[in-house]
Amino acid sequence: MDSGGLTPRRCDCCAEADLVPFSDLGEVPVETGIHFATEGEATASPLGRVILGFCPSCAYVRNLAFDESLIDPTAPTDMNLCHSATFRAFCSQVVADLSTRYALAGRRVLEIGSAQGEFLRELCAVAGCTGVGYDVSYAGPEGPDPSGADLRRGPAPLDGDLPAFDFLVSRFVLEHVTDPYGFLLRLRERVGDRRVAGHLQVPDAGYDLATAGWELIYPHVSAFNASALHRIATRAGWRVTAVGQCFSGLIAYLEVSSDGAGAAGDIDVTPLRDRHLAAIRGFDRRHHAQRRRWRDTIARLADEGARPVLWGAGSRGVQLLNLADPDRRFAAVVDVNPRKWGRYLPGTGHRVDDPACLAGLGTSAVVITNPAYRTEIEKSLADMGVSATVLVA
Ligand SMILES: [Zn+2]
Repeated sequence: MDSGGLTPRRCDCCAEADLVPFSDLGEVPVETGIHFATEGEATASPLGRVILGFCPSCAYVRNLAFDESLIDPTAPTDMNLCHSATFRAFCSQVVADLSTRYALAGRRVLEIGSAQGEFLRELCAVAGCTGVGYDVSYAGPEGPDPSGADLRRGPAPLDGDLPAFDFLVSRFVLEHVTDPYGFLLRLRERVGDRRVAGHLQVPDAGYDLATAGWELIYPHVSAFNASALHRIATRAGWRVTAVGQCFSGLIAYLEVSSDGAGAAGDIDVTPLRDRHLAAIRGFDRRHHAQRRRWRDTIARLADEGARPVLWGAGSRGVQLLNLADPDRRFAAVVDVNPRKWGRYLPGTGHRVDDPACLAGLGTSAVVITNPAYRTEIEKSLADMGVSATVLVA
């Protein structure tokens, strides 16, 4: 595709090449994590353009049309995934793994993007560490609590009063940051000569660019695969100790150390980069074909009387609804998070209901957008006595 008048932008990860536009997703909701009290507010909520560009050198992907001024950092988003037993189990597994591999007892963990503190409290309890966590959406009491976690509302003060820390955790933050290189660089500068390690997670662009790409939502300025994570962290002065995928391949993780022992480049991410570049080349055609396919499938199921339902009103679900169900042919949209029940989703204005509404709805087809939740959702359907085929979009 042509650059459509976009200003050329140097790659944020490696700074070795300009980003090349490759897919125009059109206009999508600016905030997928906000749920509205009325349908009118939901359908009137702002839209923003997504035009994806990639780096031919490191395979980093960014929304070239991203406008930071459209995002309200104080808006009450609810991206909490902990209502899912599958996600809670995954978080507990990460806590156990970090506690086993790193000597965290008596140390202080910094978590940037600590949500409501679930992960940090569990890490403190299991690893015997203390922790300080920052999140703009944190709604509980601020300050230290008996778990050892000290939770604060607001962004982490990267330029000023950041407390000294021994271990960094940041999950599902880096993809939202306008200047991810500056973010990692400032953290590295704060660490100075001390020995600090870190564990970061992002949605894996290696999955999203190789599939329909429902996770390529407006609030995600960047889409990182493991090779791009490696490049950006290395350039910001961290030594990369591990990169890879977890959670059924939907999440990419990065582990770093401030300890320079062992040259950067110990890990060869070239095969990951090349595979990702191949996925990027096929993405635009695949994405638009998947939009048409799901729009047709949802309409056909509705016409056949299957009363199709979307299970999962998170960011992926909201993106699917906006790209593939603008006419609201789904009979219902359900989610396990009670805070979403009775509220309306941005853009299309679908209402979210309790999954219990499926009993008696007569649905025979349930669409999900995240294969990691398939087993949990199939069990819930069986427990409710609902006999429905689960389709993964
Ligand atoms: Zn690059």
